[in-house]
Amino acid sequence: MSISIKPGTILNNDQLTKTFLCAPQGGMRRSHRTNTLVLISDQTGIYKDRVENNIFYYTGMGQVGDQTLTSQNKTLAESNESSIEVHFFEVFKPKEYTYQGIVVLADKPYQERQKDMNGNMRNVWIFPLQVVQNDIELVQEIERLEAKLVEDETLEETEKERIVKTRIGQSKFKQKLLNHSKQCAICGVDDERFLIASHIKPWSQSTNEERLDVNNGLLLCPNHDSLFDKGFISFYEEGKIVIADDLNDTVRVFMNINPQFRLKMNENKSLYIKWHFQNRFMSRK
Ligand SMILES: [Zn+2]
Repeated sequence: MSISIKPGTILNNDQLTKTFLCAPQGGMRRSHRTNTLVLISDQTGIYKDRVENNIFYYTGMGQVGDQTLTSQNKTLAESNESSIEVHFFEVFKPKEYTYQGIVVLADKPYQERQKDMNGNMRNVWIFPLQVVQNDIELVQEIERLEAKLVEDETLEETEKERIVKTRIGQSKFKQKLLNHSKQCAICGVDDERFLIASHIKPWSQSTNEERLDVNNGLLLCPNHDSLFDKGFISFYEEGKIVIADDLNDTVRVFMNINPQFRLKMNENKSLYIKWHFQNRFMSRK
């Protein structure tokens, strides 16, 4: 499940390390186990990152000499295209990490000239970052709407669910997925107008947290959404596609199903995929 912390929460280094399962030091901490990158902006030091119009200009890693787009600088530069979640903290007092939220790149990283620790001019990489709406706020929004609808006796349960999904869930969820990739996860169709934010574990079966979890989503074109949603295709845990026996060759060709396809996978996503495989693909038969 994705990590949810209320913005403004202050953690110490031990709590931060245990929450993200990341290294205990460094300004950019990558965790493969939680598929996150933790960014820490130390505002107590000499080098202050600047904020303008809600865009945070984060200076990359490397204290001496020219910075390069390698290591975690590379991870951050590619974060909008990968499934990694980038969490942002600021330090205003030593040893206190104030959580700001999940961030995405608002623009392409660029280079700037700055002095290094020894006072020599060098090239640094600047990453323009933007905080996206926090899951906790979205869940609260969903709960408020659900509470309002609960009193309405004229509506069926399924109708209430549909209202919440279309009013809040679908658009916010699609936006979250678009922050990571702007194409069909299977065929690469890249016109946003035709892309559908498909839940791996369906909305009706998910908790509010799962409904908003990017790992529980695939951005798909209409063909692939339909095949996936109805359980005609699914994936093994490591990402290889699995296709229903009763799909004939013509359908396979015209609906663009490549039997060699592999889905980009991470630990959290594979849990949802396992659910889909068992409850949608296997139970269809
Ligand atoms: Zn597609």
